[in-house]
Amino acid sequence: MTQTQTRLQNFVGGHWEPSRAAEVQPVINPATAQTLADVPLTTAQEVDRAVQAAEAAFHEWREVAVGDRIQPLFKLKALIEEHIEDLARTITDECGKTRAESIGEIRRGIENIEVATGIPMLMQGYNNENIASGIDEHMFRQPLGVVAAITPFNFPAMIPLWFLPYAVATGNAFLLKPSERVPLTTEKLFRLIEQAGFPAGVLSLVNGGKDVVNALLDHPQVRAISFVGSTPVARSIYERGAKNGKRVQAQGGAKNPAVILPDADMEMAATILADSAFGCAGQRCLATSVAITVGGGRKAFTDLMVDLAQSRRVGYGFDEGVQMGPVINEQSKERVEGLIEKGVQEGARAIVDGRQAKVPGYEQGYFVGPTLLENVPPQGEIARTEIFGPVLSLMHAANVDEAIRLVNERAFGNQASLFTSSGAAARKFRHEVRAGNIGINIGVAAPIAYFPFSGWGDSFFGDLHAQGRHGVEFYTETKVVVERWPREWSRTF
Ligand code: NAD
Repeated sequence: MTQTQTRLQNFVGGHWEPSRAAEVQPVINPATAQTLADVPLTTAQEVDRAVQAAEAAFHEWREVAVGDRIQPLFKLKALIEEHIEDLARTITDECGKTRAESIGEIRRGIENIEVATGIPMLMQGYNNENIASGIDEHMFRQPLGVVAAITPFNFPAMIPLWFLPYAVATGNAFLLKPSERVPLTTEKLFRLIEQAGFPAGVLSLVNGGKDVVNALLDHPQVRAISFVGSTPVARSIYERGAKNGKRVQAQGGAKNPAVILPDADMEMAATILADSAFGCAGQRCLATSVAITVGGGRKAFTDLMVDLAQSRRVGYGFDEGVQMGPVINEQSKERVEGLIEKGVQEGARAIVDGRQAKVPGYEQGYFVGPTLLENVPPQGEIARTEIFGPVLSLMHAANVDEAIRLVNERAFGNQASLFTSSGAAARKFRHEVRAGNIGINIGVAAPIAYFPFSGWGDSFFGDLHAQGRHGVEFYTETKVVVERWPREWSRTF
């Protein structure tokens, strides 16, 4: 299929099929404001059919040898690599990223496929002989059944791949509900999945919004839900899923601070933080949105940031030299600009103001230029609200303890970074700071696929996180077998 097809389909039971939903939503290129396709808002009845098809497939799939279950993943990795440019262009067109950012997220997704091909070892249990005389005990890991993931708009390729490879390699049937704002990348991914050799029904794609999510949360045959999105939705998904007896991991929003000590390499810190704050137009859950300078170095850091913010080239992500694309849609642009205004009302100074940014040739696009707010009051709304746009708030602390206190006052705990050349300061920071992902001289501390993506606080609801061993544990349940084989019985032969 090409992007000229207007109405997207679902992939259920190994077939593409149109949804019977009356309602559709347009998929819009945020750089041009043009409609790329319509996505159906699939109904609860259709979700039930997809779950039934997945359940049927699960009973066959769990019997497939573990070494055979990973073979389609090798094929899928090769297919994604072969089609990486096409996938990247689709991400850029529906999500607004630059080409490099789109390629980068696909690569991070591929890493999860690679890790999941290690399932024959990762899924192993453990055992003990003679826990009592003639009695042995074994722990096995078994798949759960039908599991589902609900994903956000900002990483249309990578985030589904945080879950899908682990879920199927461990023997589950997996159903994906992508963000209705960016369903085209998933559509392309499933065209490749179709060729990779998974049996029908093991992987399903159901497009839609809230109704699909609620149908999944309430469906008795869905055993586990993986969610990534904003905090209010993550919290409600966790509550509703848990109430219905499901295993739930729900990753939420963020407000990530970086602390810059006076002994940091200022040029390196500013360059890295400009990429962290303005990369993907600030629409990353690991974007730094607050920079706290400590002691001296404030002026040097601020001057460097002003230069980097003003010189960043904004535009359509596949155009040569573009470093930052638009935000996802018109409401998002209005919201981000409204929050900048709110910051100014609270007493901050917009030393670089990206409101009303216009890009020649893309006058209809939803662009917000890089923005720097200085003297942001720590107790104000702007210091605490997730802006999810290219806005960096600058604050200052007298010493490291005050900076750590400012960091730990937040409700979110996705990431915190420190820039320093002092090992002792780095150790103190990583020990005392309340966040699940810590960067030391790193601006986007995104855990590689074989480590868990460890949000804390209001950035995560649940226990086991996405990726690596946590993914394997989340998608399996343990079965312990205690068996007695009295020694004297063997004497009968
Ligand atoms: P969102 O919460 O609006 O949507 C996420 C998913 O939930 C979508 O599939 C959407 O269809 C569904 N949804 C939305 N509202 C719903 C409702 N009321 N009931 C049921 N389902 C609903 O998030 P978004 O705008 O797509 O993504 C941006 C957010 O995701 C940001 O807050 C960002 O920080 C967060 N995020 C977090 C991580 C992480 O790892 N913690 C990673 C990426 C993005």
